[in-house]
Amino acid sequence: MELLKQAIRERGKVLSDQVLKVDTFLNHQIDTQLMTAVGHEFAERFKDSGITKVLTIESSGIAPSFIAADELNAPLIFARKKKSLTMNHDIYVSQVHSFTKRETNDITVSKDFLEAGDQVLIIDDFLANGQAALGLIDIVKQANASIAGFGIVIEKSFQTGRQQLEELGYRVESLARIQSLEAGKVTFIEDSTSIHN
Ligand code: 5GP
Repeated sequence: MELLKQAIRERGKVLSDQVLKVDTFLNHQIDTQLMTAVGHEFAERFKDSGITKVLTIESSGIAPSFIAADELNAPLIFARKKKSLTMNHDIYVSQVHSFTKRETNDITVSKDFLEAGDQVLIIDDFLANGQAALGLIDIVKQANASIAGFGIVIEKSFQTGRQQLEELGYRVESLARIQSLEAGKVTFIEDSTSIHN
């Protein structure tokens, strides 16, 4: 998606060979116009998949999922990273190791919002080593629901997440695929375009 790649080129910051900072439009400040376009693109790609629920993980997955869920006419559910006091005991729980925070957390979804027969689109901001995705898969499986595929805003293709999901047989739609962050440059997979930070 060219608009997204342009934002990454112009507003992203390469923190290391492994980590890209996109606080200016996705992870802290949200560019609502760009996230609207991102959500629209996800909805277009999955419009024929019979989606009944969109599932993401708080907090950075929510913005890119909102318009997708709206256009697919499906509720948007976000897995919580902290248990809420108002959540009763009827919850699905899985464990996710965070790549950026280097900690393992329980993620939870209320059993009220996912059920057998649901066709779920899972959306997240980044796909790195696939830990968040595997936790969300676990939760959908606990609900006996099905996964239509993954919508990823930024995939770091040099890490193992995409390969793991494909080996499990899932469809992965990533709007920007980064081949490398080496030497402070973002190189995308499709066109080998590079930038310096
Ligand atoms: P994974 O679970 O696939 O290893 O990592 C995905 C999660 O880690 C994403 O939800 C995102 O929050 C975070 N993450 C992974 N890599 C990056 C990165 O390079 N930059 C930022 N900002 N977040 C990342």
